[in-house]
Amino acid sequence: MANRIGVVGGSLGGLTAACLLRDAGHDVTVFERSSRELEQRGAGIGFLRATYRYLVEHAGLDVSTISIETSHIRYLNRDGSIAHDSNHSYLFSSWNTVYRKLLDAYGSTGDLEDRYRLGHELVDFSSSGNGAAATFGNGSTWEGDLLIAADGIGSIVRERLQPQALRSYAGYVAWRGMVPESQLDPALAAQLCDAITYYVYANSHILVYPIPNNQGSVAEGDRLINFVWYRNYLQGGELTDLLTDRSGQRRDLSVPPGAMADHHDAEARATATARLPHQIAAVVEATDELFVQVIYDIDVDQMVFGRVAILGDAAFAARPHAAAGTAKAAEDGWALAAALGSHDIDQALAVWEPTQLALGRDLQERTRRIGLRSQVENTWTPGDPDFIFGLHKPGD
Ligand SMILES: Cc1cc2nc3c(=O)[nH]c(=O)nc-3n(C[C@H](O)[C@H](O)[C@H](O)COP(=O)(O)OP(=O)(O)OC[C@H]3O[C@@H](n4cnc5c(N)ncnc54)[C@H](O)[C@@H]3O)c2cc1C
Repeated sequence: MANRIGVVGGSLGGLTAACLLRDAGHDVTVFERSSRELEQRGAGIGFLRATYRYLVEHAGLDVSTISIETSHIRYLNRDGSIAHDSNHSYLFSSWNTVYRKLLDAYGSTGDLEDRYRLGHELVDFSSSGNGAAATFGNGSTWEGDLLIAADGIGSIVRERLQPQALRSYAGYVAWRGMVPESQLDPALAAQLCDAITYYVYANSHILVYPIPNNQGSVAEGDRLINFVWYRNYLQGGELTDLLTDRSGQRRDLSVPPGAMADHHDAEARATATARLPHQIAAVVEATDELFVQVIYDIDVDQMVFGRVAILGDAAFAARPHAAAGTAKAAEDGWALAAALGSHDIDQALAVWEPTQLALGRDLQERTRRIGLRSQVENTWTPGDPDFIFGLHKPGD
C-alpha cells in the first residue's frame, strides 16, 4: 500500500531511503534544513556496498565511474620504508560525488523542488496512532503516515525521543584534508593512488587514500588525495580551544575548511613534518585548508517511536574506523523499504527495529574497540585484519 512518508534530512541516509521508498510507490517528501543543496567539500569516504548499491542496482551507474579502486593496504614506518603491504581491494569515493548522484536519481521524475524541500528545518513533530506530523522553522507543516528522521549526529528527533542518548566524546578528533594529485610529486601520487596508506604511531594514526575530485571525476590526474588523521585532545580546555575557530566562534561537531585558527593549523602542519613518514607529511603540508571533525559515540535503545523512525547517524553514530557510517545509514533504508514491501507500517517497523538496533550496536562496539586499541592501548600492529573496513564485520 502506498504511504505518505516524510524524510527529515536530505544527506546520504535520507536520500537513499527516499529513493527506495519512492521507487516502491510511496509518496515521499524530503525536508532538508540547509537552504542550498548540500556541499561537504568533497571529503572522502570508504565506499562499502550498501552505500553504492542503490546507484548501481537502481540508477544503473557503473561503480567505477563514481569511485576509485585501490589494490593494496600499505603501512609505512616513520622513515618512509614499508612496514606491511598486502593485496586488498577497496573502493573510495567522496561525499559530494555520492550525494550528487543520489539527488539526480531522486530527481529523475522531474519534481525535485517539490519533493526535496530545502530550507525546511524540523522544529517540532508528533506521532499519533496512525500517522505523524512535522513543523518546520519556516512555518510550514506536514502530515502523513510515517516520519523518518535521518537528521544526522545532531538529530533533534533523537534528542527529544532518546534524551538519555547523549553524545559521548571519544577522546580524539579527525584532522582531514584533500590535495589534488597533480600537486604532488608524480611518483608519490601514483603510490598513494593505488593503496590505502597507513601510519600508526603512539596514540594516533593517519590514513591516506584517493578520491574523486570536487566535480566527481575519477580520471587519472584529476583525483584528490584525502587523509584522515586521528589525534587525541583532552576534553575541556584543549578540545574547546581546538574547536574555537579563527573568528572566535566555538564550534561543536567540526571546524570546517577555512575556519581553523591559525595556531592550530600551524601546529598540525609542524607535527606532520616532525612526526609522520615523509610521503604522508607531504600530503598534509600541501593541503590548502585543514579541517577537523570531532569523534563522538552515540547509541540509542529504540529506533521506532510510534510512527516516527530514526536512522543513520540520527540513531547510532559509530566511530569512522570501519568506514561504514554511510553504509549503515543506507542499510537502514534498504531494510525499511524491504519491511514496508511486505507488511503494513506498524508491522514493518516492528520487524525493522530489532535488526537495525543490532546492526548499530555491533558497529558501535567494533569501532569503539578499534579506537581504543589505536588511540589508547597502542595494540594495532601493521596489517592487523581486525582493522579492515566493513559494515557487518571486517571485510564484509
Ligand atoms: C572523520 C570521519 C570519517 C568518516 N569516514 C567515513 C567513511 O569512510 N565511510 C563512510 O561510509 N562513512 C564515514 N563517515 C561517517 C559518515 O559521514 C556518516 O555516518 C554519514 O554521513 C551519516 O549519514 P546520515 O545521512 O545519517 O547523516 P548526515 O550525513 O549527518 O545528514 C544529516 C542531514 O540532516 C540535515 N538536518 C539536520 N537537522 C535537521 C533538521 N532539524 N531539519 C531538517 N534537516 C536536518 C542535515 O543538514 C544533513 O543534511 C565518517 C565520519 C567522520 C566524522
